[in-house]
Amino acid sequence: MSKVVVITGSSRGIGARSAQLFAQKGYSVVINYLHAKTHAEALKSTLSQWDTPCVAVQADVSREEDVCRLFQEADKLGELAVLVNNAGVLDKQSRLANISLERFRHILDVNLLSCFLCTQAAIKRMSTKNGGAGGSIVNVSSAAAKTGAPNEYVDYAASKAAIDALTRGVALEVAEEGIRVNAVRPGLIYTEMHALGGEPNRVDRIKSKLPLKRGGTAEEVAEAIFWLASDRSSFTTGSFLDVAGGL
Ligand code: NAP
Repeated sequence: MSKVVVITGSSRGIGARSAQLFAQKGYSVVINYLHAKTHAEALKSTLSQWDTPCVAVQADVSREEDVCRLFQEADKLGELAVLVNNAGVLDKQSRLANISLERFRHILDVNLLSCFLCTQAAIKRMSTKNGGAGGSIVNVSSAAAKTGAPNEYVDYAASKAAIDALTRGVALEVAEEGIRVNAVRPGLIYTEMHALGGEPNRVDRIKSKLPLKRGGTAEEVAEAIFWLASDRSSFTTGSFLDVAGGL
């Protein structure tokens, strides 16, 4: 039976590209989406070319009952080997003074609480203390965790900085239970996410400020996620891989 990977928020962008890479490498893939059913189903049929089992599950990963259902669906495919906490959102570019409490809470719920809920569900299954076979968790943070994203989305940056702390803390907690926990910190990647911030062409506006003078691709981030998830990084835990053109 092939190894199972759950990738949250994998109907589009970095998550979808990661799903493709894991399927190519022989994993059974659990695609997760919030609204984009058509994208998720199309991705599922693309993945069928690699002949590995695959399922697309609608679940809001900021809700405990949805996360529970998502992992129950994953259990049907086999033993969970990898969790990629990728689902994330941002909101319109704004100064902190203009960010509402409701917005701040929503960003934390989707970006951070989801990571907490899914990580708990994964550890329960993977931990050698519970009879599991171990596994690997990769969190998708952001270069914003270090820059703070002033005048754009401090709320988003704060949620990603919290993911960094969670990555480090959990990695040390479960290191002796066969589970490695790491994170990628992408920056300026060509995906639809920038439209949520109100500036679809943000990458092209800013790219000249990066040392590499270009934006990144979802594929470049997927490669880093896969490396951290796979046994190729077997001596790496509690670590961060910046995929941000030198930022
Ligand atoms: P994207 O193209 O906007 O895709 C976001 C994905 O998250 C979609 O599949 C979306 O599902 C899903 N999602 C949103 N809310 C969800 C929820 N409550 N429950 C389940 N799924 C949910 O974004 P992306 O650029 O690929 O971003 C992926 C990750 O990379 C995020 O964590 C983001 O913060 C991080 N990141 C991106 C960049 C960048 O430059 N693009 C830079 C740094 C970090 P639906 O399609 O159903 O809405």
